[in-house]
Order: sequence, then C-alpha cells, then structure tokens
Amino acid sequence: MAARATSSAAAAAQTAARSSQDALEAKTDVRRLDERLDRLELACAAMWSLLKDVHGFTDEQLLQRAVAIDEADGKRDGKVGSGPKVCPSCKRTSPVRSSGKCLWCGASMVEGPFG
Ligand SMILES: [Zn+2]
Repeated sequence: MAARATSSAAAAAQTAARSSQDALEAKTDVRRLDERLDRLELACAAMWSLLKDVHGFTDEQLLQRAVAIDEADGKRDGKVGSGPKVCPSCKRTSPVRSSGKCLWCGASMVEGPFG
C-alpha cells in the first residue's frame, strides 16, 4: 500500500516536472515569435516608408490592395488565403504546411515569393 502511494506520488511529481518544462518551452517559443514579429513589423514599416517616399504610394492605396488580397480567397478575414491547395505534382488537395511541401508526395507547393 505504502509502495503504491509512493509510486503514485513519484509519477505525479514527474508529470508536474514535465508540465513545468513544457510551460517553460512554450514561453520561450512565444518570446521568439514575439521577437520575430517585431523584426517583421519593423521591416514592413521601413519598406512602406520607402514606397511612400520614393514612389509616392498612399495609405489608401495600401489599404485597397490589402483588402483585394484578403478577399482573393473568397472571404474577408484579415488573412492571406491559406486554405488547402491542389498539389501541382500529384493533383491531390493538401493543406499548406509550414514546410511548403505537399502532404502526399512532398512536392513544393510554394507559389510566388511569399508561398
Ligand atoms: Zn502532391
């Protein structure tokens, strides 16, 4: 009886330690993503500043283009379309994964400079 309780307590302690480690790794991942987002935001602001100053584009033009791109997938949701696509190689429908490769055959599904 006492041995079973000790074993159960040890298992609970291991689970708690794993959960604590998972939480720590999740915090680290969020911090890295936040830093990456900050760099991307700065790069976008710098590019937009250049486009306005050098080429004379306006905020209105940027907004109109953003809406057109958003709506290109049939829904206005504030995102670039990211639904399943047809693989150019095997012709199966595959979710677009971060790897940019077809789930079925591994062929590249990246289109254009931003995938
Ligand atoms: Zn494929």
